[in-house]
Amino acid sequence: MESQRAFGRSFSFEFFPPKTPDGVTNLARARARLAALGPDFVSVTFGAGGSTREGTLETVRACRADGLVVAPHLSCIGSTRENIDELLTTYHAEGVTRIVALRGDLPSGMGRAGEFRYANELVAYIRETTGDRFTLEVAAYPEFHPQAPSAQADLENFKRKVEAGANGAITQYFYNPDAYLRFVESCERLGLALPIVPGVMPITNHSQLARFSDMCGAEIPRWIRKRLEGFGDDRDAICAFGHDVTVELCQRLLEAGAPGLHVYTMNRAEPTLALWDALGLSRA
Ligand code: FAD
Repeated sequence: MESQRAFGRSFSFEFFPPKTPDGVTNLARARARLAALGPDFVSVTFGAGGSTREGTLETVRACRADGLVVAPHLSCIGSTRENIDELLTTYHAEGVTRIVALRGDLPSGMGRAGEFRYANELVAYIRETTGDRFTLEVAAYPEFHPQAPSAQADLENFKRKVEAGANGAITQYFYNPDAYLRFVESCERLGLALPIVPGVMPITNHSQLARFSDMCGAEIPRWIRKRLEGFGDDRDAICAFGHDVTVELCQRLLEAGAPGLHVYTMNRAEPTLALWDALGLSRA
């Protein structure tokens, strides 16, 4: 973990493009409260195949209008080079300087493979066509990507993305800090020198968390699952327990030398505000 300390810390918050006018209003409120914490940047998700293209762009514009540095996510599966060129040109014209470069997952039934198979091809393409114009973040999986045939193969594939020109990585969320610490050590052994920022998912809703975790291969440790099951529909108890779990996780990660935190906010301000307070990260 020692190499990670050298990078300095980056704190960032992730939003998704809202689908309704109420969602837009709620996000604007949450964004204003989170902007007060002074994040290094915020990021905005992008539906693979371009399904949220306009929504992502609108949200990027709204974040920039609030004075935030914003990194749109760009997933390449189902896209052509032309689609990617258009988005890169638009983002550059909007003043965007960082991008989270991903493969993405095509929704079932949306069979178009497009011209990119993996994120390393997207990173290489962005570097080939735009040089160093954008700071590029890629995804990392401390508990390994669900489609990877083995941990070693996933690490080798992660290395490919880094060598294609990524500047930093953001991890999938996890609740077992050892998974992250070991992942970072493996990257160090492979000679990968880039900040690997832990992705943090606040716990506020048991069924939603269980659904996400099944899809993305993030493990909810048995003791956390059992406790959450025990709370039933008691939302306050879930949030209070979830807060304690995430605070302890983040404390341990930062003490171990993690180069910041990236919070999957789910467009809500409260869990992150409470987390920042407990970690002593809130700014006056
Ligand atoms: P890749 O790095 O391409 O890896 C995908 C799989 O292919 C892995 O199993 C890997 O081992 C394997 N692989 C990689 N390269 C090769 C290769 N050259 N040859 C053979 N196998 C290879 N999804 C969205 O749709 N929109 C988003 O906005 C979004 N944001 C995300 C943000 C973060 C921080 C994270 C961690 C994930 C996000 N995702 C998003 C989910 C992500 O798109 C999925 O996890 C997707 O399945 C993999 O994307 P990737 O960029 O990690 O893919």
